Amino acid sequence: MFENLQERLSKIFRSLTGQGRLTEKNINEAVRQVKLSLLEADVNFKVVKEFIDSVKAKALGEEVLKSFTPDQQFVKIVRDELINIMGKSAATLNLRHHPSVIMLVGLQGSGKTTTAAKLANYLRKSGRTVLLVAADTYRPAAIDQLEKLGKSIQIPVLTGDRKNPLIIVQQALEYSKNSQYNTLIFDTAGRLHIDEEMMEELQQIKQLSNPDEILMVVDAMIGQDAVNSALEFDKRLNVTGFIVTKMDGDARGGVILSITHITGKPVKFIGVGEKIDAFEQFHPDRVAARILGMGDVLSLIEKAEKELDKEKMEKVGKKILQAEFTLEDFQEQLKEMKKLGPLSSLIEMLPGAPKIDVETSEQQLKKVEAIINSMTIEERRNPRVLNASRRQRIAKGSGTSVQDVNKLLKSYEEMKELMKRLKHGKLKLPFKI
Ligand code: GDP
Repeated sequence: MFENLQERLSKIFRSLTGQGRLTEKNINEAVRQVKLSLLEADVNFKVVKEFIDSVKAKALGEEVLKSFTPDQQFVKIVRDELINIMGKSAATLNLRHHPSVIMLVGLQGSGKTTTAAKLANYLRKSGRTVLLVAADTYRPAAIDQLEKLGKSIQIPVLTGDRKNPLIIVQQALEYSKNSQYNTLIFDTAGRLHIDEEMMEELQQIKQLSNPDEILMVVDAMIGQDAVNSALEFDKRLNVTGFIVTKMDGDARGGVILSITHITGKPVKFIGVGEKIDAFEQFHPDRVAARILGMGDVLSLIEKAEKELDKEKMEKVGKKILQAEFTLEDFQEQLKEMKKLGPLSSLIEMLPGAPKIDVETSEQQLKKVEAIINSMTIEERRNPRVLNASRRQRIAKGSGTSVQDVNKLLKSYEEMKELMKRLKHGKLKLPFKI
């Protein structure tokens, strides 16, 4: 996400380090470079112009904090302006009715059907009872795809009449009145291009269902075309917000940096992968931090809070402090960590996006897990019993080598030693635990 833009901007900031102060000359040059990087990132030219004018005015003006170095001052101004054009604060869903209706609209291939399932899964986690409604009767496979997705997350999908979306919508509205479902998500039809028939159908669905939210699903990868179609959809349907998908494949960021400023409507969620849980609420400040390479620790913590079993983690934490941490605990912890998703997406959220060889690290973690899995419970609890023949058996069972097993045991012993020294106060930390 944003790799190209991130690289270009950090080069500009670096060029300001070591300079005594912000002057008209170095500001002009930095601003010119920012302008080029935004245009290269496919940001709408009107947005670029306003962005640049504002950054320049702030950099030259009194708003600059004198206690910061020039590069820090400039980063802060750019950060504030990025947040500004993306809509300042996170926009939430406004669900008032029973049932609340969310209508998903957008062009074919934008990720509507996938997003319907992602959103359903997300809302269920916050306690809502969701019914998915297959109202895309245009794309042949859409209904079956939604049914399959619904099944995989155990959320029911109403398919009803497979020909007329208005009948399906009507059925869904009637059915949900006396049911436990308080949220309906409509997956509607899209075309490859905007056409009159599609817009009319969407307007009729809107009229019939009086939706709480009309969210347009937009593909980040298609750049400014996406922003143009967003304008058109908004004009016809008065959308309440956007969901920008495929952010994981977008190295530039043009859509997310243009769409709100151009349409005046917020981005409410982003799609960051093909899997159901690759879906996040959109926070302008956190995304700005990601663009600037400052990481997104808040999203990481939020994810951890949602996905991890707190009790298990606390138990392990206590054991670590008491130097009683076994390989069995380690195995448990690895299992928990996996719930947070692939290592690559976690590293991306860390400040400075550390350049870790993700593939090697993933492979190493897999090896460690395989080794521990090949041990008996007794061996995991008390690795001291691991003599040469046991080590050989484990290496064979886990498809690794005896050296790999030895390496893991050595790291474990070193970690344990460190914990002991911590416990007995022989090692001083610069902070309190
Ligand atoms: P629809 O025609 O709008 O209903 O689009 P689909 O839901 O069928 O999605 C089209 C393709 O985009 C599928 O292959 C999805 O897996 C993929 N897709 C959807 N959202 C994302 C995302 O956030 N990231 C990535 N990488 N792929 C996505």
